[in-house]
Amino acid sequence: MTGVQTCALPIYHEQVHPHGDSSDDAFIRDYMAAVGAYKQTFPTRDEQIEQTPDPAVREMLIRQKQLGIDTTFDRFDKQKPQCNFGLAGVCCKNCNMGPCRITAKAKRGICGADADLIVARNLLRSAAAGAAQHGMHGRELMLELKWAAESKLDVPLLGEQKIKDTAAAFGIPTAHRKLKSVAADLAGALLADLSNPDPAKPYKTIEACAPPERVAVWKDLDLVPISAYHEVFEAYHKTGVGTDGDWKSILQQMLRCGLAFTFSGVVGTSIATDGLFGVGDRVTSKVNIGALKKGYVNIAVHGHLPLLVKAIVKAGQSEKFVDLARRQGAKGIRFYGICCSGLSAMYRYAGVIPLSNAVSAELVLGTGALDLWVADVQDVFPAIMDVAHCTQTAVVTTSASARLPGAERFEYDRHHSNIGETKTLAEKIVMRGIQSFADRRGVPVYIPPYEVEAEVGFSVEYVHKRFGSMTPVAEAIRDGRILGIVNMVGCNNPKVPYERCIADVTEVLVKNNVLVLSNGCASYPLMKLGYCSKAGREKAGEALRKFLAPDLPPVWHVGECIDNTRSSGIMAGIAATLGVDLPAMPYAFSSPEWSNEKGLDAAMGFRLLGVSSYHCVEAPIFGSKNVIEFMKEGTRETLGSVMHVNVDPKALGEKIVADMKAKRAALGWD
Ligand code: SF4
Repeated sequence: MTGVQTCALPIYHEQVHPHGDSSDDAFIRDYMAAVGAYKQTFPTRDEQIEQTPDPAVREMLIRQKQLGIDTTFDRFDKQKPQCNFGLAGVCCKNCNMGPCRITAKAKRGICGADADLIVARNLLRSAAAGAAQHGMHGRELMLELKWAAESKLDVPLLGEQKIKDTAAAFGIPTAHRKLKSVAADLAGALLADLSNPDPAKPYKTIEACAPPERVAVWKDLDLVPISAYHEVFEAYHKTGVGTDGDWKSILQQMLRCGLAFTFSGVVGTSIATDGLFGVGDRVTSKVNIGALKKGYVNIAVHGHLPLLVKAIVKAGQSEKFVDLARRQGAKGIRFYGICCSGLSAMYRYAGVIPLSNAVSAELVLGTGALDLWVADVQDVFPAIMDVAHCTQTAVVTTSASARLPGAERFEYDRHHSNIGETKTLAEKIVMRGIQSFADRRGVPVYIPPYEVEAEVGFSVEYVHKRFGSMTPVAEAIRDGRILGIVNMVGCNNPKVPYERCIADVTEVLVKNNVLVLSNGCASYPLMKLGYCSKAGREKAGEALRKFLAPDLPPVWHVGECIDNTRSSGIMAGIAATLGVDLPAMPYAFSSPEWSNEKGLDAAMGFRLLGVSSYHCVEAPIFGSKNVIEFMKEGTRETLGSVMHVNVDPKALGEKIVADMKAKRAALGWD
């Protein structure tokens, strides 16, 4: 059975448990049957090869199979059958009296925690982890903005307007002040929201950047974070054995983590990144594995942190290092981006070609074309080391937060005492790439010949530049040329056909005149399949096609994962222009193939904004009637948003379209 077939689960959830509460025998039988049916939808590795839409991925999966190199999909198959208790979320190991799991025989853990509490606690811990991950990404950029402002870090502040505009929104004086001085205050405010322990102090990023209607909702529900650090601490505090025994209180904390993730991990990070490196602009970029070229020193940058990546690219493009590469017989030095490192670079400075998201990073390595792999933080699977060993690719790590056994370290130390040596570090890394090129002569290389062009770098600023204001886009939504807007994001998951769900949902949306915004891992299939190209306009419905003429694609690529801010900024700007609150707008958030903890928070962030979320992968909540109801329907009245899951991507796309039409009807727009 394949992941595109509908399993019993969505119907099961629509009916919301005909049997009693979460500890009822009948309910436990019921959800275990649902878990079993859900597992039947997981594709095999061979089904992945049949169904994944990008021919380059297909060819590389076949090649890795022939070479006997395992991929994510082989390892997923080896994990089968997946644990029912894990999928249901009813396994707890929060203390060493356990692990405990909820069964018909044992309806409570040793401490007395029931299924609702255990499922809710597991979910909160995942949300806290996601907030910590984006928060650490943010901390790095906010500190770098501060250090650049203090001249401890020798980089220019390229986002002058962004710094001034944002500082003004924060109430930081800007008149007659030097840019660095304003930037230092702005970085200080962002860092305070990240780490403030004092509950009496305001969380300024929300006050400055969130729509007032939303702020009132969050205050009413007591959701406004004290700081990101505080809410993550509190999440682990609450979920410890014998602390918070109320599943509702646990899920309220999850929403606080969602806000901390959104405003410190995403909005704050984006402000710092744009302040340091500029907002960038729309550009045309080459994409996909066929852009790899033999005969060059080929260096991949993989992860999320832009500072060192930018310095590496700058060094590698300099005459000095190009000459050194040529002396080793190379035609030059080329850089390729994996995951968000490629995406954040491509619309700010030329020279980094995005090749793949995290799940197919191993396939890129398997080409044998890479001399050096530079990894920083997040979504760098440890499995890349096995492939790198086969292809003799040198791997270096650059962050003390994220090391790989067998990799060489060219890293900032934990205290960042060597942040002032960024240029030297970058030059050493490029030199390592040149040396690896010389060492790897004769290693077989196979590059599938698939390469496309994509338009990237859309933003609030670009919309204003292109249209003069938000008004033309807002009018197109109101008069129906654009049915609605979807933010299509998220990582990938071998529980569904790789990149197929993202492609299929998008196909339905654009045919129905829905404008799609995208970033991060989900944007890769959309770029590779032509949705981000000018010619991609032909895939859109007639009304949207006319609006996009002559040169706009139906999917607007806004950048890396933290650029969700750009999507929410475009959505909020249009809503404000129309004088409509966000929950009433025909908007949606979709992460069809989500898998990692940040994905949980990203969906939560948009739901907190009043935008419903749509997915093809279930969360591990089968075991709690109350948590299922909370996650799927329970925030309709409070936040104005809900969650829908359907393993059939086309049906999910149709559901988004139907919900948008209902919202438009309620607004009197049809
Ligand atoms: Fe078991 Fe309670 Fe300990 Fe969890 S916290 S492992 S349910 S005793």
